[in-house]
Amino acid sequence: MVTTHNLGFPRIGAKRELKFALEGHWKGQLPQVELEHLGGQLRERHWHDQDGLDLVPVGDFSFYDQVLDMSFMLGNVPARAHRHDGNSLDSYFRVARGRSANDSACSGVHAGEMTKWFDTNYHYIVPEFTSDTAFTLDASRLLAQVAQARAAGVQVKPVIIGPLTYLWLGKAKDDSDKLVLLARLLPVYAALLERLAADGIEWVQIDEPVLVTDLASEWQQAFRHAYETLQSGKLKLLLTAYFGALGDNLALACSLPVQGLHVDAVAGRAEVDMLVRHLPADKILSLGVISGRNIWKSDLHATLEWLEPVHRVLQERLWIAPSCSLLHVPVDLDSETALDSEVRAWLAFALQKLAELKILAQALNKGRSSVQEALVANHAALEQRRNSQRVHNPAVKAALADIDAAHGLRTSAYDVRAAKQAALLKLPPFPTTTIGSFPQTSEIRQARSRLRAGELDADAYGALMRAEIARCVQAQEELGLDVFVHGEAERNDMVEYFGEQLAGYAFSQFGWVQSYGSRCVKPPILFGDISRPFAMTVEWTRHAQSLTDKPMKGMLTGPVTILNWSFVRDDQPRSVSCLQLALAIRAEVLDLEQAGVRIIQIDEAALREGLPLRRAEWAGYLAWAVESFRIAANGVRDDTQIHTHMCYSEFNDIIASIAAMDADVITIETSRSDMELLDAFDHFAYPNAIGPGVYDIHTPNIPSEEQMVQLMRKAAQRVPAERLWVNPDCGLKTRAWAEVLPALHNMVAAARTLRAAQ
Ligand code: GLN
Ligand code: ZN
Repeated sequence: MVTTHNLGFPRIGAKRELKFALEGHWKGQLPQVELEHLGGQLRERHWHDQDGLDLVPVGDFSFYDQVLDMSFMLGNVPARAHRHDGNSLDSYFRVARGRSANDSACSGVHAGEMTKWFDTNYHYIVPEFTSDTAFTLDASRLLAQVAQARAAGVQVKPVIIGPLTYLWLGKAKDDSDKLVLLARLLPVYAALLERLAADGIEWVQIDEPVLVTDLASEWQQAFRHAYETLQSGKLKLLLTAYFGALGDNLALACSLPVQGLHVDAVAGRAEVDMLVRHLPADKILSLGVISGRNIWKSDLHATLEWLEPVHRVLQERLWIAPSCSLLHVPVDLDSETALDSEVRAWLAFALQKLAELKILAQALNKGRSSVQEALVANHAALEQRRNSQRVHNPAVKAALADIDAAHGLRTSAYDVRAAKQAALLKLPPFPTTTIGSFPQTSEIRQARSRLRAGELDADAYGALMRAEIARCVQAQEELGLDVFVHGEAERNDMVEYFGEQLAGYAFSQFGWVQSYGSRCVKPPILFGDISRPFAMTVEWTRHAQSLTDKPMKGMLTGPVTILNWSFVRDDQPRSVSCLQLALAIRAEVLDLEQAGVRIIQIDEAALREGLPLRRAEWAGYLAWAVESFRIAANGVRDDTQIHTHMCYSEFNDIIASIAAMDADVITIETSRSDMELLDAFDHFAYPNAIGPGVYDIHTPNIPSEEQMVQLMRKAAQRVPAERLWVNPDCGLKTRAWAEVLPALHNMVAAARTLRAAQ
């Protein structure tokens, strides 16, 4: 009999119950006991949702983040968050969210740093280390969940993050060597395992996703040492890797003294045969056969074709599961009553994925005929998808086939273009601009929800948005900015806005995925060939331009960012979907140019986060990502100025690719790092113009003129002054007008001071 299990379940709740409870609690409206109670209810519901699996994960629930939970379990809590009365949930939220100094209970705590969980859109709280970090076990949270699950009759498999991944995820604040801490960490892990064994636990899932990344040899050795130390014989460890293939860590993973190994058999399908041959005969092999990263129905027939022979070899030693935790997919497709029924038939959310898993298990255990009906239905849905006219658009495929090298090339080199643009735009030195959005006020959001609810018709909504655009233009006029934006009032989200207008996209109503803490995103679903039935932004931009003599930037989201923030079809390479998006954006760029727009910004906020986990795959990704941007942007005349924007600051390792995008101007995040980002420019002569952000829009602080002048002077040490722009770090949509106006006022004053000093 094959064993079925799950690695983790979405905890936010099908209706985002946890989000609303958390936010209520943080506002002081929901007492802690009630929050804890809701947490318990959600866990029970989610265990129940996993009924029928042989083993169910416990400990995957979290009030904020599973990595932060691990830090608390290991006693690695920053001193700044300690509370005298020992209310640990309160300390926990202090580290998670920070606390301002005017909060009565304490004197200000800064939040833990947050960063992306491998190549997903989930963000975890980075463990903090110094050479003095000590660890002590506090397993109370996990043990309470285990007890609760037992009482609910669940077949418990506790889930923890393994010691190497825990160290790897953290940051040594004093630049000390994190691996040195392993010696102090292992006794705490040993005590934890002992505690679980004493509780009668048989299997523990110990997550080590770093096994799918490039590991230096000292980390490989540390793996060996750690698992030799932890081997106890009292309970069984399922060493768990996901998000990719093991690659050159495969032999290591097979040789560690654990009782089972879980691998991502979707991303690492090619390795399965080798694993079957290499894994010692006393170990079980858990194959993640259903993708935990996308929302498509699995091809059950194709999976069984390769899985049945593996099962014949491994027999009882074969376990099956989703490839990774289901944290990264929405909960239940059955809630999606408004979704186009044709597209809906192709999808599977968490609950549907578990149902698929059970079908596979039954087919293995009792033969395919025992699940004949389900297999036939699955096959029919996939056939329908394969042949659907909604998916395949011959005109798009023909346009893609017609792409040649010229599509990605500007007519002239940067210097020639820059001279023509200068003659046309007549901008002063240190031109000022913003990144696109202005405050999304509650009136704007209300108008949008009234439009959705049918309380406002499209004309009335349009009039409100045009009025908001006029307000925004007027404000920029009064501030004296040089290059204007329309303010993006009409956009709910920089990806969804475009997805809604492109053919080949669908939208869920409840397809929320946790991004961090209580925050969720609802990625649009790219299911088919992409085309642009109508111009998407031209009317808004034309309206905005009609209100001023200053140049108005056309504002678009780039193909790579649209792709990286969507659920993307799995029946063709991502690079092909990206090129289709590039052609759609290119058409929009050319329409804007045709409408007289002189400057067009194409945001690639998410370009960097699409980088593969393995270095060896970077070049391939960057090649098609950069080419997609170039195809989107570079069809314009020399005198049309292309801007791009990226809201991150780790540039060093991809600066050549960013230069290869060949945007005339790039605006980036830099103010928080005190222009450190520009260090990349010491070694690489960035050829085009650049606007290093001088106003950190992630805080309510209003930078002074003097601060911004200083930042620009630092920038001018690396980049010639004639190629510098003055602008904020990112869009202003999350800020209030009362902050934005004085900050931009100071920014314009800073630019004037810089000009005067020239
Ligand atoms: N143009 C977008 C804005 O200003 C860019 C947002 C982003 O980079 N995330 O809101
Ligand atoms: Zn940004």
